[in-house]
Amino acid sequence: MPDSLPDLLVIGAGAAGIAAARTAMEAGRGVLVLEARGRPGGRALTDTARLGLPYDLGATWLHQAVTNPLVPLAEGLGVTLHDSDALRRERSQIGARPVTPAEDAAYSAAWAEAEARIAAAAPDGAPDGAANGAPDCSLAEGMGATGPWAPTIEGWQGDIISAAPASRVSLRDFHANALDGGNRLPEGGFGALVARLAEGLPILFDAPVTRLAWGGREAVAEGPFGTIRARAVVVTIPTSLLAGGAIRFDPPLPAETMQAAHDLPLGQVVKLGFRVEGEERFGLPPFSSVDRQIAPGEPLVAMSLFPFGRPVISCHVGGDAAQVLEAEGDAAVEAFMRGEIAARFGADACKVLRERPIVSEWGRDRWSRGVYSYARIGRADARATLARPLAGGRLCLAGEATDVGMAGTVGGAWRSGVGAMRSAMAALAG
Ligand SMILES: Cc1cc2nc3c(=O)[nH]c(=O)nc-3n(C[C@H](O)[C@H](O)[C@H](O)COP(=O)(O)OP(=O)(O)OC[C@H]3O[C@@H](n4cnc5c(N)ncnc54)[C@H](O)[C@@H]3O)c2cc1C
Repeated sequence: MPDSLPDLLVIGAGAAGIAAARTAMEAGRGVLVLEARGRPGGRALTDTARLGLPYDLGATWLHQAVTNPLVPLAEGLGVTLHDSDALRRERSQIGARPVTPAEDAAYSAAWAEAEARIAAAAPDGAPDGAANGAPDCSLAEGMGATGPWAPTIEGWQGDIISAAPASRVSLRDFHANALDGGNRLPEGGFGALVARLAEGLPILFDAPVTRLAWGGREAVAEGPFGTIRARAVVVTIPTSLLAGGAIRFDPPLPAETMQAAHDLPLGQVVKLGFRVEGEERFGLPPFSSVDRQIAPGEPLVAMSLFPFGRPVISCHVGGDAAQVLEAEGDAAVEAFMRGEIAARFGADACKVLRERPIVSEWGRDRWSRGVYSYARIGRADARATLARPLAGGRLCLAGEATDVGMAGTVGGAWRSGVGAMRSAMAALAG
């Protein structure tokens, strides 16, 4: 516990909370972070024990590298960032065979068409669609994908990238947060990088906030740690927890803020990492990704093989299938992923997979209850609503869901934490 009470309180030590606390400290302000877990990083977590190698259970890539605020910070710490777009070797299959050149060309053309339709439906500079006057619709409808690759493309854009079925995701919000500008893979893991960025910050761990009084001139946070007062607060907990009432706000948050949290639910993804025995690499180079054409209704599995040349196969599935599998438990996830590997490389391929893979559990995790936010159809404006400072800036909400442009990512969470803390400090100065 601090000797004196801080000016500023931050709730949550994920990327947004870490960025907020660093911003306050850089400005010379007293700040304290209250974190429910026993570690920093939130949904960015690198495990090194289970596979004997770094494995990111959550965030993995630094997206939008050209503007991602984590890129210069990582470089400043001497962390090597690998250009994963250049390293990635992509192969697509139909069943167990690689696609023919003609099939590959058809797949690329189908992607280009889907992306062009998304862009046309919500033109640049008008992510709210005001310019073309068209109402928002689902990502699936906006893409209008047809042909044999349609379910695969919908699976990627929906279940994997948005963590929810494309039929439930706002096209406008998807477009406003579409990421380009390159991806980087930090050596040692993204979670490990985020944890390093938290080093030296005043964080009280195992300190879940259960009640926050914020109406008056000071804010009062309550939890098992007791009572802590501050002059302004930045709250970074996920929208799943905000909407679920995990913190009792007194007075209650405005109805439009609560509605925005409901309109930005967290999707679901389950990640699994197998360690591979021996030197078998299925003839694939490091950083391979093997895509498989799926039929309507079949879940899409994203598969990254041998990153950094390591003996690891990482598989993930998103959306409703992820929710069902996670609820069924680790054994069900493992059986499903073994089936996917067998479907691509033959049943014998599974012989090289070690027992006891590592499996994520973000849906069950009581401090996240999901992976990253998507906007419900017609609610692309919810992110800006959620980010609007309350009580003249003495209460600011931050976190990936509040960013517009990089929502759903660590970079977006970071930017939101910096912005929210600046608003809170301005409120104290005013
Ligand atoms: C499987 C998966 C894959 C992903 N892939 C990528 C990727 O490749 N690239 C990328 O950029 N992003 C990715 N993301 C998303 C990224 O991890 C998140 O967007 C980002 O980490 C969110 O940061 P945040 O600070 O907003 O929230 P969080 O990281 O969730 O931080 C919020 C913190 O608040 C704490 N908390 C909750 N309730 C309370 C309470 N009552 N009191 C105190 N503390 C509380 C939580 O424990 C948590 O530490 C992925 C996420 C997952 C799960």
